[in-house]
Amino acid sequence: MTEFDLIYQLLNTQSNQRADVLTGIGDDCAILSVPENHSLAVSMDTLVAGVHFPETASAYSIGYKSLAVNLSDLAASGAMPAWITLSLTMPAADEDWLKEFVRGLFSLAKKHNVQLIGGDTCKGPLSISIQAHGFVTKAILRSGAKAGDLICVSETLGDAALGLKSYQCDTGIDASCIRQFDQPEPRVNLGLAINDYATSCIDISDGLISDIAHICKQSQCGADIFLNKIPLSDAYKTYYNGTPDIIQALSFGDDYELCFTIDKSNKKNLDKMISETGLNLTCIGEITTKTDIRCFNQNNEIVDISRRGFEHFNG
Ligand code: ADP
Ligand code: MG
Repeated sequence: MTEFDLIYQLLNTQSNQRADVLTGIGDDCAILSVPENHSLAVSMDTLVAGVHFPETASAYSIGYKSLAVNLSDLAASGAMPAWITLSLTMPAADEDWLKEFVRGLFSLAKKHNVQLIGGDTCKGPLSISIQAHGFVTKAILRSGAKAGDLICVSETLGDAALGLKSYQCDTGIDASCIRQFDQPEPRVNLGLAINDYATSCIDISDGLISDIAHICKQSQCGADIFLNKIPLSDAYKTYYNGTPDIIQALSFGDDYELCFTIDKSNKKNLDKMISETGLNLTCIGEITTKTDIRCFNQNNEIVDISRRGFEHFNG
């Protein structure tokens, strides 16, 4: 068996088979059927070893996270995931590594009824690109926020930043934070639940402030953020002994929570979205007519946030 026979054999172990995949892995093209009255939402992200994940991360986590970050983009658009293609570049076809990689990838794919439908395989430094395809009837765009809208985020911020510290030999990190960094949960159900209400949405990959800046730029507005409203996990607060590093939680990124805006009149619908998804949703600020992002402390004083988020974890 050649290296590539081995890879194809492993890729064919996926249990998820969708009826809309007319031809999957093995032919020149995948042949797919898009449901009537839907648009195709497509997104691609690349993860490079040593840049987007530590060289020492487990193969399982790398497989999981590579898909998670792509499904997170679909979630932010309010799309229902369907298919993925995978471009895998690796130094050698290590069977044990590949088995764990596909196990991680397929475990998340199965959760979201996603099928791998094709890709490409090359030799070189470890790098994984995934293109995710999903369906939408009405997409949530970055450009729809308007002055007066409430800014909301899901769950908590900052845990992924702590998760990375466990790779830097900090032994005092809670397992939940390591998991948030290694295997973030894409908020697909939340994207679908807020679709009717959200005026804009983005997933938090580069840090809340940088990501809100994308919404502000595309919506031509500003944002006021209230730092005492930023949701932090108990694990995060415990690590910092009661004085949590709020700037890190706002700027590190890698949390893959959703940040979205809603018209104030929809505030009452937040509880419905919370019960539909089982996720905490917190209003942390408001869209303004200005063009800058201002952060306020509990005394209503402006705090200068100069660290606007990292390009990569070692950036
Ligand atoms: P080609 O020479 O036409 O590019 P390949 O040998 O690269 O064909 O691929 C053969 C089949 O295997 C194609 O259907 C392709 O989509 C699939 N494939 C190759 N690499 C991957 C991968 N990493 N993940 C999923 N499918 C793959
Ligand atoms: Mg090829």
